[in-house]
Amino acid sequence: MQGNWPEGLKKRLEDKRDELTSRLARVTANVRRSLDSDSEERAKQLADSEVVDALGNEARIELGKISDALARMESGEYGLCKECGLQIAEKRIEAYPYADECIDCAELDEEIRARP
Ligand SMILES: [Zn+2]
Repeated sequence: MQGNWPEGLKKRLEDKRDELTSRLARVTANVRRSLDSDSEERAKQLADSEVVDALGNEARIELGKISDALARMESGEYGLCKECGLQIAEKRIEAYPYADECIDCAELDEEIRARP
């Protein structure tokens, strides 16, 4: 099955995935280098590597979402809400290409989470 997503979106996601993959590789290389090196600025470097690690985690999470979205495109589930099965509004897809819920279900989730 094809369609249900705006033109060029798949390419955009693939480009983003490639960008994140290479960024992640750089980040990993940086962390490794700082751990290998025997510098006097070890403490500072460790602090830096924590920052780098956080960035790496963010990239990893985003990468996971992109992979999911691309997998859903392959299986034809992309653009359909995983909760209610209805089509996700195109505007929402444009604004948030990794969306796997329609706005109604997403808002319901938020409300449930916000409850004390
Ligand atoms: Zn829904």
